[in-house]
Amino acid sequence: MFCGANDYNNDEGYKLEIFGMTEDCLREAVSKLGLSAFRRRQIVRWLYKADVWDFAAMTDIAAKDAALLREKFTVLPARANILGRKLSKDGLAAKLLVGLPDGQAIEAVGLRHDYGYSVCVSSQAGCAMGCAFCASAAHGLIRNLTAAEMLAQAALLKKHFIGGANISNVVVMGSGEPLLNYEQLIMFLRLLHDPAVYNIGFRNMTVSTCGIIPGINRLAAEKIPVTLAVSLHAPEDGLRGELMPVNRKYKIAGVVEAAARYAEITGRRVTYEYLLIKDVNDGARTAEKLAKLLQSTLCAVNIIPVNPIKGKSWQKPGKKRTEKFVAALLANGVTATVRKEMGSDIQAACGQLRARYISSQARL
Ligand code: SAH
Repeated sequence: MFCGANDYNNDEGYKLEIFGMTEDCLREAVSKLGLSAFRRRQIVRWLYKADVWDFAAMTDIAAKDAALLREKFTVLPARANILGRKLSKDGLAAKLLVGLPDGQAIEAVGLRHDYGYSVCVSSQAGCAMGCAFCASAAHGLIRNLTAAEMLAQAALLKKHFIGGANISNVVVMGSGEPLLNYEQLIMFLRLLHDPAVYNIGFRNMTVSTCGIIPGINRLAAEKIPVTLAVSLHAPEDGLRGELMPVNRKYKIAGVVEAAARYAEITGRRVTYEYLLIKDVNDGARTAEKLAKLLQSTLCAVNIIPVNPIKGKSWQKPGKKRTEKFVAALLANGVTATVRKEMGSDIQAACGQLRARYISSQARL
């Protein structure tokens, strides 16, 4: 049976990872231990509603059952070390650097909005895409994350930042390219949706991609109405290819076409992310080209003034220039907003804390 993160065999003496285990698997694993369905539901409630990850602390579970559970299962968020945490001065943004049991470090960000809490999770340790502006690219791809590892990021933020309240939105916009980790991504989204887990509507989830066309097509056929975000950053192949090497494989026309089809099939408006970089992609002609490209599709453009990153000379354009860029899009019939900056004092843009962690390790 496919158990998500748990592809090793308990009969050979390994412990199974219980966190993020699919319902069928959990049913089988718990009944194998001779425990009842009632126990199973208790465990699930502790794991996902109460954010308790130590069987001994599950107060309505008999000590002998807790001991049995501990012998058979591990609980990922309890095994993950919080290597770093930062809270923005205004308290609205938090960032965790999470150390996984194999020593990898990943980042997750939580944001408090007026409508609730959103969390931003990483889908890979590192990233292979090599975007010129992105801190996650600096160290290459290490490995895909499992669905449980993605869920654990949300769980740790829920416990340590949100105070156990409900997560309202999830964006897969941290380090990594989620559509190159497709199966685990979908399992993660389905877990989030599960009423026994976090009970989050698919419409409140966003998957952000650099434009992996086959992945976009596959997601469109998945019949889960998540929001697709496409990191575009330039309206022409020459410039986009310089910023994002993936553009050599998946050209702009094909990406926009796949995204438009996604919008048609799911009825969901696609978000285009557009980092605004001074004197690189922020000119009036570029805005016009961008507008032409997107004019006839169901979309909105999210303008993100670039966060300067170490070793690169990119800068944010000034406020006036940013507003002019947005106005040009609006004038041409394309919805556009500037992303509200949150947590810039904690370097909430993905990869930056991890990058510093890795280079500090390298110095040791
Ligand atoms: N691979 C996916 C998910 C990674 S998140 C994708 O490409 O969409 C990518 C997003 O991170 C970008 O669209 C941008 O919103 C943000 N980002 C990356 N580097 C940034 C930087 N230097 N400043 C601001 N935002 C950045």
